[in-house]
Amino acid sequence: MSTKQVQQVLAPPAPHMVGDGFRVHNFFPGGYNMSKKRMSPFFLLDYNSKIDFPARKEPRGVGVHPHRGFETVTIAYHGKVAHHDSAGNSGVIGEGDVQWMTAASGVLHKEYHEAEYSQKGGPFQMVQLWVNLPAQYKMSNPKYQSITKDGIPAYALPNEAGKVEVIAGNYQGTQGPAYTFTPIEMYNAKLKKGGAAEFNFPQSFNTGILVVEGNIKVNSTTEAPADHFILFQNEGEQITIEAEEDSVLLVLSGEPINEPIAAYGPFLMNTYDEVQQAYSDFNHGKFGYLED
Ligand code: MN
Repeated sequence: MSTKQVQQVLAPPAPHMVGDGFRVHNFFPGGYNMSKKRMSPFFLLDYNSKIDFPARKEPRGVGVHPHRGFETVTIAYHGKVAHHDSAGNSGVIGEGDVQWMTAASGVLHKEYHEAEYSQKGGPFQMVQLWVNLPAQYKMSNPKYQSITKDGIPAYALPNEAGKVEVIAGNYQGTQGPAYTFTPIEMYNAKLKKGGAAEFNFPQSFNTGILVVEGNIKVNSTTEAPADHFILFQNEGEQITIEAEEDSVLLVLSGEPINEPIAAYGPFLMNTYDEVQQAYSDFNHGKFGYLED
């Protein structure tokens, strides 16, 4: 097996606010003008690096907005987010939890800091991914997977190097709970200082690692500090990681969806006619109703 080489280590792009509750670095597609398919099936990565929000009575967040044609995956590292959607789903995403929302044919939702967290303030750190859906599933029924910390199995690495928590896919026989429409591997690797881990993904899979905490060395050569994203080439299979301090890594790999992309605002379709249709359906109330 040959080494999957690092293409680039990306520093966090300048942050922008999403609503007033999320201060995010957009690594792709916009942040580095990456091709919209470069990380397919992952279309977008917004990373709220760790910041302290001051206490506030009225929770910060993003008001009611639609999505169609893809899935939003929210991973909480610090802080808590409350979520409501027009399909009647709601929940709180707390530290270690993952929310996997399949917008598919369309939902309205809103995302706010959870009330108690907002009143106390404190550290906040989250990832939101947009995962594309193949054409045949873009107009399927919306669904919602609430994946709590307790429901995420961990593989214990040898030599007490740490653990790999499997959200989706399979690591060394440990199967993640998330249902995915296309092959996706998604892990939180928690390595102790001096610990090592190995990952193997097919050449064709688009692969990247976000360093959420700590500092690592990739393939014995490339340093990557906290808040950086490592983009891998589509050659070779094997990645080795050594943690230079206690580290948390979000590991992403997936089979590309080889279909045209028409992306505009909160919609991710195959053609711009479909995007127009999404706006028309939204304006005609076909996404349901959600109170602001
Ligand atoms: Mn949203």
